[in-house]
Amino acid sequence: MKFKAFAFIALAAVCLSVQSQAQDSLMLRKMFDEALVNGQCYENLRYLCKKIGPRLSGSAGAQKSVEWSKKLMEGYGFDQVYLQEVMVPHWVRGVKEQGIIVNGKSRVPVALAALGGSVATPANGITAQVIELQSLKDLETLGEAKIKGKIVFFNRPFDERFIETGSAYGTAGDQRNSGPGAASKYGAAAVIVRSLTSAIDDYPHTGGTNYGTNKPIPAAAISTVAANRLSDMLKQKKGEPVKFFLKTNCQTLPDVLSYNVIGEIKGSENNNKYITVGGHLDSWDLAEGAHDDGTGVMQSAEVLRIFKALGYRPKNNIRAVFFMNEENGHKGGIVYAEKAKQNKEEHIAALETDEGGFTPRGFSFTTSSRTFIKNINQQWKKLLEPYETDRLVSGGGGTDIGPLREQFPDITLIGFRPDSQRYFDIHHTPNDVFENVNKRELELGAAAIASLIYLIDQHGLNF
Ligand SMILES: [Zn+2]
Repeated sequence: MKFKAFAFIALAAVCLSVQSQAQDSLMLRKMFDEALVNGQCYENLRYLCKKIGPRLSGSAGAQKSVEWSKKLMEGYGFDQVYLQEVMVPHWVRGVKEQGIIVNGKSRVPVALAALGGSVATPANGITAQVIELQSLKDLETLGEAKIKGKIVFFNRPFDERFIETGSAYGTAGDQRNSGPGAASKYGAAAVIVRSLTSAIDDYPHTGGTNYGTNKPIPAAAISTVAANRLSDMLKQKKGEPVKFFLKTNCQTLPDVLSYNVIGEIKGSENNNKYITVGGHLDSWDLAEGAHDDGTGVMQSAEVLRIFKALGYRPKNNIRAVFFMNEENGHKGGIVYAEKAKQNKEEHIAALETDEGGFTPRGFSFTTSSRTFIKNINQQWKKLLEPYETDRLVSGGGGTDIGPLREQFPDITLIGFRPDSQRYFDIHHTPNDVFENVNKRELELGAAAIASLIYLIDQHGLNF
C-alpha cells in the first residue's frame, strides 16, 4: 500500500510538472510573439536617441529623459510610476579637447576624448615627453625618476583570446579606471590611454576614471589608430624624444538633483516581494547612448508592457528601474538599494541589461547556492532553447544592481547576456547611435528577459 501511495504521489507530481512546463512553454511563446509583432521598444529607443540624445548625469538631456521616461511608463498604465531622488555628479567636457603628437618638426593631430571626471589642463595645454607603458605595474618598475613631468601613455591592447569581449574590457580596464590616479602618484603631468576596444579605427572611447585620493591630472583616451601611430613613432625614435600636446577643458560642477525612474506592476500574492529589471538611463555625452544603455532601459519597460498586454498578473511585484548615473558615479544603484532596505522590501531577484541590445544568448547568475547553475539548467534550459537564449551560466550582475546584494545577501543577481562581439566597437564613442541597433535583436532580448522574469515569478529561484 505504502509503495502504491508513493507511486501515486510521484505520478501526480510528474503530471503537474508536465502540465506546468506546457503552460510555461505556451506563455514564453506568447511573450516572444508579442515582442516581435507588437513590440514598442525599438520606436521608444528611437525617441530617446533622436529626440533627447546624450544624457550624461546632471545634463539637460538627462533631465529631459527622466521626464519623458516617467510619461512613457505612465502611458502604459503600470500600477505605479514614480521618481526616486538621487544626487549625481555633474561633470562637463567643455570645449572639445585637443591632442597632437609632436615628433621633431612634425605635428600630428589625433582623435581623443577626455575621460569622465578628468580635470582641465592649463589654458595653453600641456606639452611633455611621452612614456609608453603596458600596465600600472610598469609605474612601480620605472619609478618617479622616469615618470615625473611626463605624459604617461597606457597602451596595453585588448586580449583578443577572450571569446566574450566583456572579459577583455574588464582586464584592460584598469588603465582607464585607475591608470591616471596611479600615474599621478609618480608625478606624471597627464595620462593618455589607448581606447578600450578591439576595433582599429579613429573613434576615441571615453569612460570614467577614478583618481581615488591621488591628485587629479588631465586624462584622455586616444583612438586605437592614434595609439598605434604614437607607439610606432616612439619605437622608431632616435634623438629628440617624442612629445604630446594635450589640452582638455573639462570641469566638475556641484552635484545635481536627478532621479531613478521606476515603474511597477503589483504582485497578486506576495505584496512585499520584488523582482527588479533595469538598465541605466544616463549615457556618455559623446553620443546617443543607444546600446549603452538606451536598449537596456527600453527593454526593461517592454518587459512590463508585455506582461500587461498578455494580461499576465504576476505573483510578486515587478519593477522596471531606469537607473541614473551608472556611467560616472553609480549613485542611482546605491540609492535604490538603500531605499529598498529602508522600506523593508524583500528583494528576491534583480536583472540588469547593460551589455548592448544585441542578439540574446542567455543569462548569468550570482547566488549563494552551489547547485544553482546545474539545477536551473535542468529545469529551464529546455524552455529557453527554442529562442536560443538558453545559456545559463554563473557570475551575473551589473553595476546598478550590485548594491542590492549588500543589502539583501540572499538575492539572486542576473546579467542579461547578449552576443558581445560588436559592443566594444561602439561603446562610449560618438558611434553609439540608434542606427547601430537592430530591431529584431532588441525585441528578442526584451522577450528573453520577459521570459526569465516570468519563470522566476512563477516558480522562484530555489535551485
Ligand atoms: Zn552601460
